[in-house]
Amino acid sequence: MNSSPRPPEDYIAVEYELGAHNYKPLDVVLTRGEGVWVWDVEGNRYLDCLAAYSAVNQGHCHPKILETMMHQAKRLTLTSRAFRNDQLAPFYEEVAELTGAHKILPMNSGAEAVESAVKAVRKWGYEVKGVPPGQAEIIVAANNFHGRTLGIVGFSTDPVARHNFGPFAPGFVVIPFGDSEALRQAITPNTVAFLVEPIQGEAGVIIPPDGYLREIRDICHEHGVTLILDEIQTGLGRTGKLFAEEYEDVEADVTLVGKALSGGFYPVSAVLSNQEILGVLRPGEHGSTFGGNPLACAVARTALKVLVEEGMIDNAREMGDRFQALLEGIGGDAIVDVRGRGLMIAIELHAEAGGARRYTEALKDRGILCKETHTNTIRFAPPLVITADQVDWAASEIAAVVGGIS
Ligand SMILES: *Cc1c(COP(=O)(O)O)cnc(C)c1O
Repeated sequence: MNSSPRPPEDYIAVEYELGAHNYKPLDVVLTRGEGVWVWDVEGNRYLDCLAAYSAVNQGHCHPKILETMMHQAKRLTLTSRAFRNDQLAPFYEEVAELTGAHKILPMNSGAEAVESAVKAVRKWGYEVKGVPPGQAEIIVAANNFHGRTLGIVGFSTDPVARHNFGPFAPGFVVIPFGDSEALRQAITPNTVAFLVEPIQGEAGVIIPPDGYLREIRDICHEHGVTLILDEIQTGLGRTGKLFAEEYEDVEADVTLVGKALSGGFYPVSAVLSNQEILGVLRPGEHGSTFGGNPLACAVARTALKVLVEEGMIDNAREMGDRFQALLEGIGGDAIVDVRGRGLMIAIELHAEAGGARRYTEALKDRGILCKETHTNTIRFAPPLVITADQVDWAASEIAAVVGGIS
């Protein structure tokens, strides 16, 4: 099937010439993956410590998800929602059973799930809460990352994500992350929702103060404001629980999932809500050609099944604790902070260390792929199937690089 591989420089040059330059990837050209490992076109093996931003929590090319995908692809791939298919109902049942959701809206990308939630919650605001027409406000946190659509970058605070893409939609209010008092102050009678990540991933694995999730949960209850937790990155086992909200025993009104919902095989996302919020949508008011298609539903069902049955969530907690403890032990002048929850871990480097990029380049040369976020933070988020030996090896390589250069 494959034509003989070309030298890596070739692929890189063509990408540069023909592709939009909206990414600056590490110069590694991958061709194969299995579990925590990926291989480049020259046959070098790497431990994947990014896991496609947590979309491959189940590990690359998980055999059971693959089997489902091939089986379903031969049967029926797409019907559109103009007709019904026999995978959607079981997908709903299994998601509801696992997550406690009462209503589910299947979409494709994470950004679409966010946009869908914003639409639904505004409609809920007008039709149930009684907000005057056109006045709905949604509160969001500074340094958020919720995706790349126009609606979403409009309430980003990252100048790079926004610059020259305006004009943007009104109706969003930004408050500092991790400050529940700021939420209380920002709420008005027109506030319909607070949209927030339980841990800010793209901002550099920023963990809010203890008690924050419980406080915002209470404040939202008190004021009739919908709490929307974006668990597209933190959810589905990444932090060592099914959802990060479980660390503070809270339940969002709306939870957004994506990424690992398909184990990396296919874009599948969903809005999970109580009865009320998604209950406002009527036929024709929202949709997606591919959302809820039988291939996506079948893949997602198996992706969730293996996550639970193969103990990946508990493994994420155990391996995450082990990994974090080893990284904390590195010491040296370069490191300011090691933080994380489960297998969502970051090392923050001193500004004088010369930027995270050269460390990620050096780690690549030692067989570990990871990504800097912003200038001085390296994130480690391997597939949740990582073993203790692999964690120990990765930590020792990271120690050699991060403890070594400075
Ligand atoms: C990745 C991500 C998104 C966007 O998902 P896409 O599939 O890239 O659109 C939204 N929210 C969070 C927290 C994410 O990490």
